Amino acid sequence: MDKQYDYLVVGAGLFGAVFAHEAALRGKRVKVIEKRAHVAGNIYTKEVAGIQVHQYGAHIFHTSDREVWNYVNQFAEFNRYTNSPVANYHGHMYNLPFNMNTFSELWGVRTPAEAAAKIAEQKAAAKVSGQPRNLEEQAIALIGTDIYHKLIKGYTEKQWGQKATELPAFIIRRLPVRYTYDNNYFNDTYQGIPIGGYTQIVEKMLAHPEIDVETNTDFFANKAHYLNAYPRVVFTGMIDQFFNYQLGELAYRSLRFETETLPVGNYQGNAVINYTDAETPYTRIIEHKHFEFGKGDPEQTVITREYPANWQRGDEPYYPVNNQTNNSLYKQYAKLAAQEPNVIFGGRLGQYRYYDMHQVIHAALVTVATEFDK
Ligand SMILES: Cc1cc2nc3c(=O)[nH]c(=O)nc-3n(C[C@H](O)[C@H](O)[C@H](O)COP(=O)(O)OP(=O)(O)OC[C@H]3O[C@@H](n4cnc5c(N)ncnc54)[C@H](O)[C@@H]3O)c2cc1C
Repeated sequence: MDKQYDYLVVGAGLFGAVFAHEAALRGKRVKVIEKRAHVAGNIYTKEVAGIQVHQYGAHIFHTSDREVWNYVNQFAEFNRYTNSPVANYHGHMYNLPFNMNTFSELWGVRTPAEAAAKIAEQKAAAKVSGQPRNLEEQAIALIGTDIYHKLIKGYTEKQWGQKATELPAFIIRRLPVRYTYDNNYFNDTYQGIPIGGYTQIVEKMLAHPEIDVETNTDFFANKAHYLNAYPRVVFTGMIDQFFNYQLGELAYRSLRFETETLPVGNYQGNAVINYTDAETPYTRIIEHKHFEFGKGDPEQTVITREYPANWQRGDEPYYPVNNQTNNSLYKQYAKLAAQEPNVIFGGRLGQYRYYDMHQVIHAALVTVATEFDK
């Protein structure tokens, strides 16, 4: 190490980038190492045929936190994209989230009162009483049988790789039901997609003379050296791997993405279409150009099919599985983490928590405040 650094940041995702940026603004010298060949972690986007392709799944920025919204807007201009996914169930198309358009398509109802009566009738006919014992009972108790069978069951079983009757009820505590003709998926005040993609956000955060970035570099190839050579380390990789899985493995769900460029201008007419039947092996198809209202080559489009997958060591750990067993194992790891005075564990993998982008930015800014303004 020819230069003296104050911090080593492991992982050039959103958490690592916010921390590195804020540390550099405070005059700290920061080295960022990233095991992938590129920065930006899972929000990485890459231009293909003039289209920003979300390489690790569809990413829609949404928040009601004005501070976070202002913060991220320093690094990109956001468009007015509103997430309005559509479900394809055996060739029938239904708007999501469940709203008057969905109910009208399903049952021919026209008013909120008619829709509410239909749902109440289905719930009563299903005779689910008492504490729901599994996800199926929970979903039916909340929304009735039609929506459960057509729009929830197949999708959820594919996502988790388990039968709905074997999944715990707590996975869906509530289902967003809207008695208006409003297809906007999120209730947040602010929503959009950065014009020109997400990668620029992280690149701009890291473009500082006090920050050096090294990609294709795995912390675990040289862990002892890094811990020895840097006064402070911000670690955003898997917390169980940091401790060599000594208390056991935390569980993750993984995904496989199948991306294709097609010689058509408009493949599916929407950015996100969910396949909610059990037979289609993927959960959704993303058509990336619709995130920027058709920008890019008018003769071509890029689509990605998303296949849920079991996780095993070596796979990308996309989602933490925050059930009771894993959460209590994580707490044990967090106790070990507290005994590492010079290491800060942050982000989705370091804190084993399903964070959205705005939550990661918020968490990183809280960490920055604790670190520098104490
Ligand atoms: C499929 C999918 C869809 C999503 N959709 C949305 C959405 O619509 N809206 C939203 O707000 N959020 C969404 N998210 C969440 C969003 O991706 C995360 O909030 C955000 O990327 C987390 O940032 P992070 O820095 O914590 O983690 P990451 O982005 O995972 O960054 C961690 C980085 O650390 C690197 N790393 C790990 N281990 C090591 C090591 N040993 N050595 C060196 N580097 C290492 C990794 O390669 C990675 O680049 C989605 C996530 C997924 C998986």
